Amino acid sequence: MEMGCVWMRRIQIGGANSLILLKKPSMAVSLSSPAYQYPISFPCSKPPLYIVSFISPHRRSLSAKACSLPIHSVSVEDSFSGFGGGNGIDVSRKGSKVLLKGMTYAELEKWVGSHGYRPGQALMLWKRMYGDNIWAHNGDELEGLNKNFKKMLCENAEFKALSLKEIRMASDGTRKILFMLDDGLLIETVVIPCDRGRTTVCVSSQVGCAMNCQFCYTGRMGLRRHLTAAEIVEQAVFVHRLLTSEVGSITNVVFMGMGEPLHNIDNVIKAADIMVHDQGLHFSPRKVTVSTSGLVPQLRRFLHESKCALAVSLNATTDEVRNWIMPINRKYNLSLLLQTLREELTLKHNYKVLFEYVMLAGVNDSDADAKRLVDIVKGIPCKINLISFNPHSGSQFRPTNEERMVEFRNLLAEGGCTVFLRLSRGDDQMAACGQLGKLGSVQAPLLRVPEKFQVAIKSSAIPQIATAN
Ligand code: SF4
Repeated sequence: MEMGCVWMRRIQIGGANSLILLKKPSMAVSLSSPAYQYPISFPCSKPPLYIVSFISPHRRSLSAKACSLPIHSVSVEDSFSGFGGGNGIDVSRKGSKVLLKGMTYAELEKWVGSHGYRPGQALMLWKRMYGDNIWAHNGDELEGLNKNFKKMLCENAEFKALSLKEIRMASDGTRKILFMLDDGLLIETVVIPCDRGRTTVCVSSQVGCAMNCQFCYTGRMGLRRHLTAAEIVEQAVFVHRLLTSEVGSITNVVFMGMGEPLHNIDNVIKAADIMVHDQGLHFSPRKVTVSTSGLVPQLRRFLHESKCALAVSLNATTDEVRNWIMPINRKYNLSLLLQTLREELTLKHNYKVLFEYVMLAGVNDSDADAKRLVDIVKGIPCKINLISFNPHSGSQFRPTNEERMVEFRNLLAEGGCTVFLRLSRGDDQMAACGQLGKLGSVQAPLLRVPEKFQVAIKSSAIPQIATAN
């Protein structure tokens, strides 16, 4: 997301679990590169945590303690180009069996053909996995399929990529669903029923997140691993299966759960393709929205390769604020991000990007911010969502009050923007925006607060856990 002069000097060591922050000369990142990704080792029984840090080349010395545990290092470039399986899991297989939901329709047809069956049978299988009110989880649910074909599937294929662990319901009807992955890690999916017959499922794309946005609980976890395409698709399928009879059909998908989707772009584009296939889940591409914090090259690629909608989490009108609250801005600053959108959207027909703007009291909600926001999005076909900040344990920000949000909205509307206020949903079950995940004993660092915002932050009176410059 951002780039600049951030120096992760030290992270507090929590409890019995030693946390070691290392900078190794052997790391697969050029020292001249402004971006480095730092591994933090966990005790051996735990998966590695990755935190992206952006470090000035002239401030290289880090205090670090020796570590006897294996170090997992992944450069930003490596991780952006397909660090996808994680923990040695094959993205397309489960044990000796092939994982059906990790395949596009074309891949499934080919695989079925390789076992001697016709394309028509692949289509019947596809429909039973993704439609016909079946959402099959095993061979017994494949009614109407040829007996030998079913036998072959039972021997060679696996339908499920996730195990259901728990469903929690918030007072407003929002459900947070916890799924367990094969390696024991947990992810969260949120289902948001809405009046007017719309139900949205918010899917996760990673376990944790490397981006360390300062207002986001998930960001404090660091990145554990990317999700496979099957693990992403299965969240939407599982929700259909579990909740359609209760909440009605699922109409929208947003990639706004745990993780930065475009950091896992291969699997996200593939999962989105599977979701919009007209013989399967058949979501309209306009109703599948992938959100990014602003990974510019991946955003460009997404706009070229996917028909789905794009949301950009903006949250600031100056580089000073965005460098602090969204460190990705130090790599891809506001003007580069917005200029890229301006250029790319001229090539798209009838396409608007959705800007998300989380409102933080005293940080990004002034009249001057509203005016700047109107200016900086000029020339970009867009809508703006103003989002109420959802506090969580350890957060240093306060939400902008409703009255101020309305004033801010009015200023944007007067400036000619299409703007909406988005109410918080599910926050009593930590199911709201920016509240997903579970912190371990190790957290990503809080960054230095620019001097002029220290009063606003102090007044929220939440202790900082660790600080990096
Ligand atoms: S807001 Fe999104 S990109 Fe930023 S840390 Fe949270 S999950 Fe990651």
